[in-house]
Amino acid sequence: MNRFAQLDRKFVWHPFTQMRDWLKREPIVISSGNGAVLRDFHGREYLDANSSIWTNLHGHNHPKINAAISRQLNKIAHNSALGFANEPASLLAQKLVESADEIYDLRSAIYELKDKPPRKPKIGKRKLEKVFFSDDGSTAMEVALKLAYEFTRRTRGQKLQPKFLSLDGAYHGDTIGAVSAGHIDLFHKAYAGLLFKTDKVMSPYCYRCPFNRAKPERADAREYRKCHWECVGLVKKKFSAQKKRGNPYAAFVFEPLMQGSAGMIPQPAGWLRQVTDIARGHGALLIADEVMTGFGRVNSKFKILNSKLPLFACQREDVQPDFLCLAKGLTGGYLPMAATLTTQKVFDVFLGEYSEFKTFFHGHSFTGNQLGASAALASLDILQSKQSSVARKKLEQALSDELKSLWPLPNVGDIRQVGLVTGIELVKDWRTREPFELRERAGIRVCEAMARRGVLTRPIGNVIVLMPPYCTTAEQTAKMVSALSDSIQNVLS
Ligand code: PMP
Repeated sequence: MNRFAQLDRKFVWHPFTQMRDWLKREPIVISSGNGAVLRDFHGREYLDANSSIWTNLHGHNHPKINAAISRQLNKIAHNSALGFANEPASLLAQKLVESADEIYDLRSAIYELKDKPPRKPKIGKRKLEKVFFSDDGSTAMEVALKLAYEFTRRTRGQKLQPKFLSLDGAYHGDTIGAVSAGHIDLFHKAYAGLLFKTDKVMSPYCYRCPFNRAKPERADAREYRKCHWECVGLVKKKFSAQKKRGNPYAAFVFEPLMQGSAGMIPQPAGWLRQVTDIARGHGALLIADEVMTGFGRVNSKFKILNSKLPLFACQREDVQPDFLCLAKGLTGGYLPMAATLTTQKVFDVFLGEYSEFKTFFHGHSFTGNQLGASAALASLDILQSKQSSVARKKLEQALSDELKSLWPLPNVGDIRQVGLVTGIELVKDWRTREPFELRERAGIRVCEAMARRGVLTRPIGNVIVLMPPYCTTAEQTAKMVSALSDSIQNVLS
């Protein structure tokens, strides 16, 4: 066994991993990467079919990002943002704000689902103007939750203990605040005693929605659903009930367009706009978790304007949140860095004389890290080039074409693609939608079989994720899908 594999088995504890299973076999030890390809210490090559847990955008070893980090490294790697400003972080904050506030003509979006035509964009209504940097998706969420909580108390009454509403199946990270806003019993229940209480509301999981009267078909469940938007009605009910209790929600917390760790649950077109309008109507702030959806993952259906595609999922439905939480792809997937964008209004509530102690007492040692910010600036440059925009559109189409080959498989229940993110839900039989028991490890076994075929990804329960880096070629896309198809047939039939 490779020396690093031995050391790993002896000393390392891996995230979200049953270590007893891990210790039964030799781990894959990655030695290098290039584009969409990862290489291990035995010289074997694999396609990175989940972009290294949803972080990588432009591929590994990208010359422009490498060069930007090297240039910065020759100046300084890091000094503290507590007390000092720095060049790349200031430039990055400006770029993020500009990208988030950019107004796109939503009528140029070619909707996959035509039941809700986009409204005219509300130009310049609410702007994101301030950026709080932190380290990862969880801390980006912690910052938003704390700011929203304190903003609400300072503007509506210090005696309040404002509550949050988030979606069933939500996952927003693993720190205590982020876990509190999450609703995945398997991960979160054990820590209930440590958490603050948040409410949950149904998410629009069309494939398994109790209100969807449609019989299973060989298509994305959003396309053939038969319902009356009962999920939206439940959001309305939840807000009204909380108002009657005299303690309106501080904020509505959501992943826009697609809930990731919940199982790649896509929202039917128009859902996001309707529920955020309800939340706003009740005076709640909006916290958009775009840790997964941000940076071009979901918006390749738009027309390219001025070489660019919109970067954020909220822009697709003309929703301007009060907090936009970003991480993963921020640095192109190179370095751990996160950002929470917010409005001038929120910022102003924390202004005062020193002695008033209105300061936001929160910060991390690596806040505004120069290497991360340099990588992020280079990544944004690539992302906003015509070449990358065109490549993303082509990749979305290639993925969509290839995925069609999976429908004939009886164990494929639903294929949910939003832009460059896909969840493929495995079932015992598509006609009944009967799920595999988690302990059957269907998703894990299929992913292990894919690894043997040179394609790496990670399941979410029975859902297989395909989320390729943007540089993935049509051939590589075909290989990802055919490895998945072979593995499903090999493992499940
Ligand atoms: N929010 C979402 C939507 C995520 O997908 C994740 C991570 N998968 C997080 C937050 C937490 O991010 P991190 O792992 O970087 O803390």
